Amino acid sequence: MICMTHLTPWQRLKYAGLMQRKYDNCTVNVWMSPGHYYFDKPIAINEVTKALDSVFQHPYFRDNLNDVDIVFQYSLVQALGTVGTRTVAFVKSSDLFGKSNILFINLNVARKAAGKPTQQYAQIFEQMYKKGSVGEEFDLAMLGKELENTIAHEMTHIIQEHITQAGRIKNQRIDTATKIFRNIGSLSEKSTAVSLDKLTLDKAINLLFVKIYKTFTHTDLYIYREGVASFMGDYASGRYGTDYKGFMAQSKEAAKETKSWLSTIEQHFKSVNGLVVESITAKKPLKRDSINEKADSINKTALSIKRFYELGYAIPAILFRYGGFTIEQIGAMGDHKLINEYTDTCLKNNLEILYTNRPGVHAIVNISDFRASLHKLRKEILQNIKELEASQAGKWH
Ligand SMILES: [Zn+2]
Repeated sequence: MICMTHLTPWQRLKYAGLMQRKYDNCTVNVWMSPGHYYFDKPIAINEVTKALDSVFQHPYFRDNLNDVDIVFQYSLVQALGTVGTRTVAFVKSSDLFGKSNILFINLNVARKAAGKPTQQYAQIFEQMYKKGSVGEEFDLAMLGKELENTIAHEMTHIIQEHITQAGRIKNQRIDTATKIFRNIGSLSEKSTAVSLDKLTLDKAINLLFVKIYKTFTHTDLYIYREGVASFMGDYASGRYGTDYKGFMAQSKEAAKETKSWLSTIEQHFKSVNGLVVESITAKKPLKRDSINEKADSINKTALSIKRFYELGYAIPAILFRYGGFTIEQIGAMGDHKLINEYTDTCLKNNLEILYTNRPGVHAIVNISDFRASLHKLRKEILQNIKELEASQAGKWH
């Protein structure tokens, strides 16, 4: 009988209770979509049990969580989605902000591990059921590690909410940024050209900058949340120790790629400035299309910045290896503290800094310096636009 649960009465009807495990004061309830994937067979239950035990034996998870629900569910939407947009597991954000800890694991989404696509959990469990054992084509050990990794990663997100309110802070920061620039308006995700067309040039430029500022408003949080969660996932499943150098190389590569995305954005803004200056010098009207073109490039580049998981990984990993911090201490830090300690640890140990928000510190990505230089560029462009409007009759068209 499962008593303590965060599932709604509707969810309790929808999913079947599979098992309950207790780790000191932490109770874990496991549920499943009934009828689909043969979870009620000993071999499957055994795998799930092993994964749970492995994660919750770590004090970081056991002591920071009171009760947790894990739902293995069937998601048709996810199964049919394109590779790359398929979500393996998630914690519902409405649950994150409240008190309930519900982790959903999508059974029929195959995930990639170490570059190789693995089987869907569903297929593996079905195979176990039908054959009564696991065929050679299935790597049971890999499945177990995947489960451990996924559970630890998502549990870290839940703990982050409890300890540091990361998601709440992210929303607050976006709200603040939105309020500051409220009078300027908002830009759609996909097409900047359409939204900019209705505006005067200075407003269009401002709006574009706002969009980029907003993107970076929560960069620290993103890097912190996914970096720490990925590290905890690997730590709990034992993968971290096995390929430290490989992970670090990946982090560095992600940092370099992020840096190049940021430079591209800056370059595009510089060309916008160039177009304005050219128009002043040549006394020719500025073509709206040419600005729109740049705006779309800026937008596309900003949307392509995605390697927060890998970039962020190095931060807790370095703190753990060089900073003398325990898993529990790392897990209790908010984003600013974590990035600060990471910067200090790198400086002390003469390590290359991949990411920092401390002005003037040499790093592959110094987000603070980037913001400052973008801000300067914005002022310069706006100043030139004023000049352009004063100097010539030619409105931009
Ligand atoms: Zn995550």
